[in-house]
Amino acid sequence: METDEIQSAPLSCIACGDTHLANAFTARDIHQRSFRFLTCPQCDTLQIESVNEELLQYAYAESYYGGSDTKFKWPFSSLFDLGKQLAARKTSKLMPDKQVPILDVGCGKGDFLDKLQKLGHTHLYGNDIEKPARLPSHIQWVSGAFPRLEATGDQQFGLITLTHVFEHIPQPVKAIEQLYQLSASGGLVQLSQPNIRSRQAQQYQEAWLHLDPPRHLHLIPSGQLKKMFSEVGFELVSETYKAPLYNPFGYLQSWLNRRIAQRDLLYEFLKKGGQVKSLKQFFQLVFSFLYAGISFPFYFILDRSEARKGISGTVEFVFRKS
Ligand SMILES: [Zn+2]
Repeated sequence: METDEIQSAPLSCIACGDTHLANAFTARDIHQRSFRFLTCPQCDTLQIESVNEELLQYAYAESYYGGSDTKFKWPFSSLFDLGKQLAARKTSKLMPDKQVPILDVGCGKGDFLDKLQKLGHTHLYGNDIEKPARLPSHIQWVSGAFPRLEATGDQQFGLITLTHVFEHIPQPVKAIEQLYQLSASGGLVQLSQPNIRSRQAQQYQEAWLHLDPPRHLHLIPSGQLKKMFSEVGFELVSETYKAPLYNPFGYLQSWLNRRIAQRDLLYEFLKKGGQVKSLKQFFQLVFSFLYAGISFPFYFILDRSEARKGISGTVEFVFRKS
């Protein structure tokens, strides 16, 4: 990944360019390494202090999650899969013409595109930092670290999806320009990201689950993001805040993070390969599960009212190239 442009001093806001950044807080990652976050007084974007090659390599090293998968243990895997299935149906409705080329940026192993294929879509393209060992044959691979894609030629897409990916991209302004170039006339971009203006973000700050240090490099507020897309030539189609898969768990894990020193303990345990490392952790997990069982229905209901006000944990936009 080329990050040379964003290392230059003085440090400025990654979203609006303002140079008067203020300290927000220091957050620890799951390995107890500390990262400083800065906030922009102009546009309220939160960004990690220094993005460089070392940081990106550290964040995406195979060993980061102890070799565990990003998939979840059963039955959470089934629940997550169901969520993806519903998300794919929603995305599919945006594109009634199933021949229209769709690009999924940050496609991982191609699970989401696979679901779109089962819904009848025929021209599917995937991009991620690394090509997975096994990619379904109906997915065409686009290599390169977004926004620097290789060999796309003059291929343009009717729909580009970025599901919780944008906040991982070191150069958001360039990324939006690239999205414009890659979009066909009237093409759509569907983007979801954590909502920095959410009540859970404000309440839990450095302990917020969706901060995910150091992988989330920036969290740009909805207003500023819409401005950035509009400046490049996109118009807003929709903006939604309801996400029962992400938002209630955001509250739950953040509350636990304030009480258990090991960040995201429950979340990491729910992943495949997540293990209990000590008796203390065992009891912390029992506590976490008990709290989850009691609080989840409450957070689920809370999310519905917060979503209506635009203050729930995550946001999804659809933009159209005008
Ligand atoms: Zn700013």
